[in-house]
Amino acid sequence: MDIQKVHFSMLYTVYLICFMTWLPNSLLVYFWNNLYNNFLCTYLDCPQRRRFIAELRLRGNFEYNSKALHSDADLVVARKINNIPKSKYTVCPKCKIFITKPALRRHYRNCYENIQSGTNRGILSNSKALFNYVHPLANEILKTCILSSMRDDVIFSLIKYDKLLVVYGNAMCMKYRSRHHYDMIKNRLRIMGRFLQVAKSVNPAIDDFASLYQPPIFDTIIEVLHQFGNYDKISGYYEKPTLPSTIGTALKYIANLYIMECIKSRDEKQKKDVEDVLVLLKTGLQGPVNKTAAESLLHQKRQKKEVLPLTEDVRKLNAYITSNQQKYYEEI
Ligand SMILES: [Zn+2]
Repeated sequence: MDIQKVHFSMLYTVYLICFMTWLPNSLLVYFWNNLYNNFLCTYLDCPQRRRFIAELRLRGNFEYNSKALHSDADLVVARKINNIPKSKYTVCPKCKIFITKPALRRHYRNCYENIQSGTNRGILSNSKALFNYVHPLANEILKTCILSSMRDDVIFSLIKYDKLLVVYGNAMCMKYRSRHHYDMIKNRLRIMGRFLQVAKSVNPAIDDFASLYQPPIFDTIIEVLHQFGNYDKISGYYEKPTLPSTIGTALKYIANLYIMECIKSRDEKQKKDVEDVLVLLKTGLQGPVNKTAAESLLHQKRQKKEVLPLTEDVRKLNAYITSNQQKYYEEI
């Protein structure tokens, strides 16, 4: 190594150390842990050093882009394409480079050299889990297996930042541990997210799911349940009777979880309110919602047309059964 290269290396090290205070904590730890082996003890054009600098750059870009996604700043991407919105970009789960969604699968094949058959399944959900900000109470299964594969829309935003819905999701993940239940958990979370969205539009006093558990809001709950079931005021039946009773059951389950949270935080006033709403849910939903739903189901069953067999066919079947019965009776 000549003297100029040594001087450049030393200057670059001083430069890095001067500006490392700008690095976020996660990068700073990585930088210090690898500085000696991958930088100071390597020569200028060493592949190991280049890999270390590239890794540092990619991690820095990832930290920057994670914040830029939720601000007006531009993303630092592998290949900038004009007129492509930020939402069309995603991150490679392995090297953390930002790339367009259609190009990710091809890139991932080259990036992950020893790829096995079927290993590239769920790349998009894995990459979404990397920079998907959810409520900190969300457990690992909810974050990586449930929320990461849900459609990113207004309802999803309501779910992932709502403390009580995240607690509900955590409880469901603990109750139904098998992977084939994940779709059911997603559906239930989405229904409750939709319920919150409609409730917010009906009553502006509702901010989050926890604000539903106040006794004066109970009338709004019944109104929204009627909306979900397409309640016909003249006939008194629901068009979709299953949904209101399913939501009613889930509201009671979430109320019990909320009481547990209040006990943990020793919030006696809120606990009293939730207990009162739970009493209202248990008794107040019986008549207007649960009975209406049961009657609507029965009404729909009665209204359903059933094709009966022809009288001639019934006669033929009866004659066949009788003759066979007689034949086998004689054989015995
Ligand atoms: Zn990659």
